[in-house]
Amino acid sequence: MPSFEDARRIILDSVSPLGVERVELLESQGRVIAEDVVAPWNMPFCDNSAMDGYAVRACDCAALPAILRIIGYIPAGADITGPVEPGCAIRIMTGAPIPPGCDAVVPVEETDDGRESVTINAPVTLRQHIRFTGEDVPAGETIITAGTLIRPQEISMLASFAKVFVPVYRQARVAILSTGDELTELGEPLAHGKIVNSNALSLAAAVKEIGAIPVILGIARDNHESHREKMAEGLKADALITSAGVSAGDRDLVREVLTELGMTQVFWRVDIKPGGPTAFGLYENKPVFCLPGNPVSTMVTFEEFARPALLKMMGHKRVIKPLIKAVLQNSASKKPGKINFLRVKLVSSEGRYLAYSSGDQNTGILKTMLMADAMAVLPANRTTFSAGEEVDVHILSGNVGMLEE
Ligand code: AMP
Ligand code: MG
Repeated sequence: MPSFEDARRIILDSVSPLGVERVELLESQGRVIAEDVVAPWNMPFCDNSAMDGYAVRACDCAALPAILRIIGYIPAGADITGPVEPGCAIRIMTGAPIPPGCDAVVPVEETDDGRESVTINAPVTLRQHIRFTGEDVPAGETIITAGTLIRPQEISMLASFAKVFVPVYRQARVAILSTGDELTELGEPLAHGKIVNSNALSLAAAVKEIGAIPVILGIARDNHESHREKMAEGLKADALITSAGVSAGDRDLVREVLTELGMTQVFWRVDIKPGGPTAFGLYENKPVFCLPGNPVSTMVTFEEFARPALLKMMGHKRVIKPLIKAVLQNSASKKPGKINFLRVKLVSSEGRYLAYSSGDQNTGILKTMLMADAMAVLPANRTTFSAGEEVDVHILSGNVGMLEE
């Protein structure tokens, strides 16, 4: 039985980025760029004004007040004009090209804002308020490297260089299969003794959240034929996630049928709680995650194992959530031997996080998962934890640390 770290390492080592596609710029948001991008030209393209004011020759303004004759006006977007002779100035707007002959811009606030002539009242230094050609990005510089996540700021840079299409890693199509005779699809009448197939929805939500595409396959009933049919479909996707049917019960058919269909089981059972019965396999180099059925276990094992692997498949380099320190506010105890993931609420206080147990940690209790902002990772070898000691936590998605208005 692998340890938690070994299991995650094994999974990450067995997946690699999917192919590349070109998408329209805005579609690339949240995706990972697959190639380096080099600046095709200088940015700025030419020397231009950083202020609304007057383009001048600094040497004309040595003695103040300086009075200069205005010979023109350059709004933003205009082409280069000039040249500007000694004793003259041009009215210029932010972003407009600096006319030949000028070597400084005087902000309108430091002048009398004249139209025929302008009086300069403040000292002028050479090159002031000019944005120089290529000062942001010189032509030929690598602006974005392969493997970068595309955020609004990357979009801004790519748009500035007129990139209409962007090469990004493909989104993983993730098949989601629930198993169990007790399950009823959401929206169907719920008979006594049945439960809603909520795992399909929580997994689909988690898959969507990382920018992958969920393909919900529905329910495989607890017989070989139903499993075979659904699983054959699921193995066509980039990854397959099953829930339930992976423990040691005689109706737990998931591993057996997947193996029949050609999956190689890489491991079964991990040294963690919740989520111990998790299995991982490969089918034609595609990952198959067999997650336990308990809704809490399903979500926790997705978070710990499937999430980083799917991110890697979509080209992400940062796939593992960092462990941060939080001060435990309750005592806690556990059995030795397994890492325990404790559901905790985080409160930020004086620059630190305080971690409060969200309540009953039983695997069957879903409610405390809703109240959790993070998972505290309690080490395998320890058994008791006291209030006031620091523990490692990793944050679940949401708005942890954000303040109310
Ligand atoms: P199993 O591994 O099949 O024994 O299932 C473990 C527990 O998870 C049982 O209580 C199931 O009813 C529950 N469970 C299994 N599949 C789902 C599902 N798709 N949605 C919600 N709960 C489930
Ligand atoms: Mg079952």
